[in-house]
Amino acid sequence: MSAEVLEKLKAGVRKFRTEVYPAQSATYIHAGNTQQKPGALIIACADSRIDVEMITQSGPGDIFVTRNIGNLVPAYGEMLGGVSAVVEYAVSALGVQHIVVCGHSDCGAMKGLLSPEAVSKMPTVENWLKNAHTALSVAEALTAKDERPSDLLHRLTEQNVLLQMQHLRTHPSVAGAMARETLTISGWVYDIASGGVRICEENGRVFTPVEVERVTA
Ligand SMILES: [Zn+2]
Repeated sequence: MSAEVLEKLKAGVRKFRTEVYPAQSATYIHAGNTQQKPGALIIACADSRIDVEMITQSGPGDIFVTRNIGNLVPAYGEMLGGVSAVVEYAVSALGVQHIVVCGHSDCGAMKGLLSPEAVSKMPTVENWLKNAHTALSVAEALTAKDERPSDLLHRLTEQNVLLQMQHLRTHPSVAGAMARETLTISGWVYDIASGGVRICEENGRVFTPVEVERVTA
């Protein structure tokens, strides 16, 4: 029942108002009365299992976020729309100092690229995924003969993040800010099941895990 879905959402709002907000009201009041000045823009997948505020432990005002299917950034001039406007606004108006392109494990968009028949009845999605076709070519070219399908998916996810970082650099606002050295970019892959994040920093090709100190009980 769809009504149950709305009721569940309302229950969440009630819990937020009665438990979460009171514990952090000063933070919210400050955020509501201060112009936003987020340090970073995060471009992530719309997948419901991705929660960028949670994985970066960010609060109100900390990060500017846009999410879409496959964490894609059309190259400048290709599909001037929501993502391009967000990038321009984040860099030119908000002056973010860092942009993250965040991909993730088990991504439906990446699976759609590998199995085009799965998206053939969704022309808008199919068209949107063209922004990642170059990553598919590269991932397939790097595939060894005896590789498992999961390895290809993994490589495609990484190559897609690298491709979208390249696309980002074609945006005039990004290119200008990077030339002035007021902006850096990085690519992330988040593993949903383990919570791990691997990061490829600017100009790199390798994703390195964010080290976490082992907690001993
Ligand atoms: Zn995804």
